[in-house]
Amino acid sequence: MRTPGNEENMKKDSVEENVSDHEDVNHQKNESITGFVNDLGELQKELKRKETITCILQTLESDNDNLYKIIDECIKIIYEYLNVSIIVVAEFDNSIGKTKIMGQWCDGSVNNINGIMKYMPVELSDILNEKTMLIVDRKEGEENVRQILGKYGIRSMVAVPIAVEGMPQVYAFIAETRYEMNWDTHTISYLFDISKILQSFIYKRITNKSLRKSYEALKEILNNLTSGIMVIDKQEDEDKNKRVLFCNNTLLYEMKNGRKFAFEHYLNYEKKNKKIYSTKKYYEECYDPKTERWYDIHYIDIKWVDGRIVSLCNFTDITEKKKYQQKIEFQANNDYLTGLYNRMKCEKDLKLSIDDAKTKNSSGAVLFMDLDNFKSINDGLGHQYGDKMLKMIAAKLQKIDGIENSCYRVGGDEFIIIIEPAVIDESARIIDDIRKVFASPWYLVDTSDNKYYCTMSMGIVVFPQYGDSVSELIKKSDIAMYDAKKNGKNGFCYYSDGEDENSYKKLDIEKNMRLAVEAGCNEFEVYIQPIVDTLTEQCIGGEALVRWNSSNLGFLMPGEFIPIAEHMGLIVNIGEYVLKSACLFCKKWSDRGKNLRINVNLSVIQLLANDIVEVIKTTVRDTGIEPGNLVLEVTESLAINDMTRMKRIIKDIKKLGVKIALDDFGTGYSSLNYIKSMDLDIIKVDRTFTKDIAEDEYAQAFVKLIAELSKTLEVQVCVEGVEYQEQLGKLKELNINMIQGFYYGKPMRVTEFEQRFLENTR
Ligand code: C2E
Ligand code: CA
Ligand code: CA
Repeated sequence: MRTPGNEENMKKDSVEENVSDHEDVNHQKNESITGFVNDLGELQKELKRKETITCILQTLESDNDNLYKIIDECIKIIYEYLNVSIIVVAEFDNSIGKTKIMGQWCDGSVNNINGIMKYMPVELSDILNEKTMLIVDRKEGEENVRQILGKYGIRSMVAVPIAVEGMPQVYAFIAETRYEMNWDTHTISYLFDISKILQSFIYKRITNKSLRKSYEALKEILNNLTSGIMVIDKQEDEDKNKRVLFCNNTLLYEMKNGRKFAFEHYLNYEKKNKKIYSTKKYYEECYDPKTERWYDIHYIDIKWVDGRIVSLCNFTDITEKKKYQQKIEFQANNDYLTGLYNRMKCEKDLKLSIDDAKTKNSSGAVLFMDLDNFKSINDGLGHQYGDKMLKMIAAKLQKIDGIENSCYRVGGDEFIIIIEPAVIDESARIIDDIRKVFASPWYLVDTSDNKYYCTMSMGIVVFPQYGDSVSELIKKSDIAMYDAKKNGKNGFCYYSDGEDENSYKKLDIEKNMRLAVEAGCNEFEVYIQPIVDTLTEQCIGGEALVRWNSSNLGFLMPGEFIPIAEHMGLIVNIGEYVLKSACLFCKKWSDRGKNLRINVNLSVIQLLANDIVEVIKTTVRDTGIEPGNLVLEVTESLAINDMTRMKRIIKDIKKLGVKIALDDFGTGYSSLNYIKSMDLDIIKVDRTFTKDIAEDEYAQAFVKLIAELSKTLEVQVCVEGVEYQEQLGKLKELNINMIQGFYYGKPMRVTEFEQRFLENTR
């Protein structure tokens, strides 16, 4: 249609001169008939104009999608009516200096059609900007405008704006190249009317189109989101089909898979929030138990594209994120080995419990539990068995009523149990249940006779009475635990104020002991306590008992640091040091012609170290001690009941010619079977039996039994803890071979021992 110099039109315009139709424009040519311009003529022209406007409106009403085609057709109607040489409708953007032709008609008299279309509108744009309409004819027109038009061969022109808000400027240029004209007011107002019609038409089309386009674009965007989007009509009734105006692909997919949760959830939300329009954003994280999925849900009320008030709902499936979070949380709060909670979770929970106790004006308790001799299981049997035992213990603890959810593993073999205020009344029962867990043996290896005992020491602190901060309570329960350990294993101890001073030392002990061991154990000193033959009342040797002259902590008794040394594994180093020193003394004594025995304590942790036999062997060799003078004191271990292994170790030690004594007999889980199956040389009866031996019939009976049994078993018996003459008398009656106790001498420095028992008797 856009046919510059369309032949047919050209012919029509130049050859046929239709006076009645073109009276206005031909006005000048027909000056002689000016008088005919009368009412009738004007009426005819008016009718013609009305006719073209009707034509234009009809054209505009067509449902042709192509805006330019419609404009072009409208221009043709005007062009034919006005019979001017050129009409151009151009959209131009003067910011980039570009013109876009929407429609254009012209006759053959136009030479520079390209320039008129492309550049003239741009050149005129500044002038046009200031005016509603630009008229250049015989009467009107500024010089600069005339000059510009002249360049393009235009002699008269009307430029009418077709202003569309927010769009580049659109102008209709009606121009005459053939002659100068006089635009009459009717024509001008006619052009003005048409421009208004076109303007509103173009506006409607453009906004409509952009709306549709932006809606399409919006849909495209929404459909490609991974979260579900739903637009719900706020005013419609509850029928889902009517209410859901839009659903993106993600949500459709969800719904197809039976996850209707989103819509149903919206209805609930609406119930709470009525149907009031609110621009407030609403957010919720929710769980759908049916599908076991988690969603992030956002609602906001907005105006939809068609102006309706709708709720825009955004659903995001966050199940994976949630699972990951839960996993991370689990890892952060749980002990990977036992599945119990860990220290971090313990601290968090304890804080809540303290607050709870305070608000309820109630109490709770922290139980700090440390396994006795766990190290020996771990080192002796191997880590996998240690792990197995920890798991078994954890499982049993978790079954105890009232603490199912408050057991924590806070260190290698350390557990914390919180007794919550809600169950504090049951604490006695709970503690008893915990102790019962350790009363029966564990079967770690798949043969039935391999029973392992593991005991624990437990410190208990009550809160908020003895503290209301997490760190304070844990520290105090730990202190109480060490007190329990000191009082003999497998017990428990309540924290009470006043024990702080000594007990806080524990932490210092650990630190300093490590340093002392690293420095070569010189701070440790071996004391000797004499052991006397009952019949001859002669000293036959002594027991080596270690003391620690700590440069930082002062003088420490073994009870204060041996349990910690065992716990830390440092007992191995300290024990070797004691063994070596003791052997050297003994060798020195025999070199002086005094054949005395030396008893050395061997911790179960040392005993189960893989190289123990080798250590003893080299010590005996290096010190030159007569092996028969060395007596190693071992205790019945509660932890290790691996008879086969123990028997083998003892056998190997005995092969070196060294003697074995069973220490602390009568305490703990003594069994005669044990003595029988071990190839022992000496039984040391614990001093608890000595205390009341003069009066207590049970103690007498027990010692008597051991004495008689020892003959059959061919072992010697040594009774410890003899302090008084009466005790000694009774023990002599019972045919006990050896006596050790304050009666003959407390543990003393080697120099003193040598003075008293070597020189005197020489
Ligand atoms: P134990 O092996 O049973 O040592 C005997 C303990 O009883 C010694 O305490 C000793 O002082 C004490 N005792 C001896 N006669 C009497 C008495 O007539 N009355 C009273 N009331 N007590 C008496 P000590 O020296 O404090 O040692 C305590 C424990 O420390 C020892 O008990 C032993 O199990 C351990 N121990 C000491 N030195 C070593 C060592 O070098 N290695 C290892 N593994 N443990 C050691
Ligand atoms: Ca001993
Ligand atoms: Ca003993």
